[in-house]
Amino acid sequence: RLQGAVDEKDVVAQYFNSNGFERWRKIYSETAEVNRVQRDIRDGHRQTVEAVLHMLDEDGTDYAQHTFCDAGCGVGSLALPLAQRNAKRVTAFDISEAMVNEARRRADELLPPEQRARCDFRVADVEGFRSDHPYDTICCVDVMIHYPTERAEAMLRHLSSMARSRMIITFAPKTLYYVLLKKVGELFPGPSRVTRAYQHSEADIRAALRRLGWQVRREHFTATWFYFSKLLEVVRAPDTPNA
Ligand code: SAM
Repeated sequence: RLQGAVDEKDVVAQYFNSNGFERWRKIYSETAEVNRVQRDIRDGHRQTVEAVLHMLDEDGTDYAQHTFCDAGCGVGSLALPLAQRNAKRVTAFDISEAMVNEARRRADELLPPEQRARCDFRVADVEGFRSDHPYDTICCVDVMIHYPTERAEAMLRHLSSMARSRMIITFAPKTLYYVLLKKVGELFPGPSRVTRAYQHSEADIRAALRRLGWQVRREHFTATWFYFSKLLEVVRAPDTPNA
């Protein structure tokens, strides 16, 4: 099992350091030319990021007092707006050095020095990431799609141990329609072809979170033609010890 896990992670890292980097850097940009499928994915992803920010804003989050960790941050699509809201600290990491470098470049370009200084980017994988301090909120957006459910649950366990009061996570839910969509997609290999994607049973993810002592507070579902992502905001369930 461990051997398989190592291989999986290495394959994903390699993809996001090469072809995947080029593909996703463009999708996660507002200006780069993309094809129609990629544009659809870009729109879907933007909706997910907006849903996360909306949840935080709606709460009246006191950003200046709030620390965030963005696990699998990509090019910083979420980390940057968090920094722009003057978050106390944004720690963003990704397994892909290319993605992290692009996130740093965008942060250097877009953030004024005082916001940039409170934001740091590291190369690390979810389960290997270590921190001395817990984070008020840990986000993990569109990362678990790259791993089978067992690995996704292991990631949640590790993130859970570093989260003080909240986690915001997304995954691709396994429903009949999306299983079929994926099968159809697999019939069309080509430049727009997505990397291997895993869908997770929503019941499994919810049960894993419950076992770790979390309860769902709010949820959101984004679905476009080619992008779909279930978002769960979880908070510590009463009377459960911190994981
Ligand atoms: N969360 C970002 C966002 O929503 O804009 C990026 C999403 S992108 C589809 C998936 C990202 O997860 C990639 O940047 C990839 O390198 C990263 N990733 C995949 N496996 C990871 C792991 N085990 N640890 C950390 N990052 C990982």
